[in-house]
Amino acid sequence: MRILFSLALLFVLACNSTSQTPVTNGDEAAGVTPNLPEYRYDPPAREGEVERMDTTTEYWKNILTDQEYHILWEDGTEPSFSSPLNDVKAAGVFACRACGLPLFSSSTKFESGTGWPSFYEPINSAYVQQDVDRRYGMERVEVSCARCGGHQGHVFPDGPDPTGLRYCINGAALNFVPEADL
Ligand SMILES: [Zn+2]
Repeated sequence: MRILFSLALLFVLACNSTSQTPVTNGDEAAGVTPNLPEYRYDPPAREGEVERMDTTTEYWKNILTDQEYHILWEDGTEPSFSSPLNDVKAAGVFACRACGLPLFSSSTKFESGTGWPSFYEPINSAYVQQDVDRRYGMERVEVSCARCGGHQGHVFPDGPDPTGLRYCINGAALNFVPEADL
């Protein structure tokens, strides 16, 4: 899967460097749908070791939809109950939609009733960056992908056992990778 991912990425980069025209998935009428692989899944070469990516706004705008870009790079929030990932109960992992880093496992997903995919812990604490977010007159802890820096959501201290934490994550910032494809 890593090889497929790399090839897909190279393809996108190659196309962009030659034509500057976004690649489409055949639905040119819509005009804006990037030719994304079904999902991105790119675990680190060594478990727990994440190298920070250094990429440009342009790069992300080329591989993400407008909504994904807004959430990941402008700290946006999708409407509650809008993500199909809310209802995913199958075994697998949820990877960063931008860079493919596996962030959460289905085994830690729970029904929070909030309308956003919710998890009680990340796959590896090294894979998520946590920062205090004081916007909107609240003090919350923002969760970002530790590799690409893309905004994922927030973590709150009102989750279930065993951690008591609730990682409230935008589905549009994640890809679901079924266990059979890991
Ligand atoms: Zn990422």
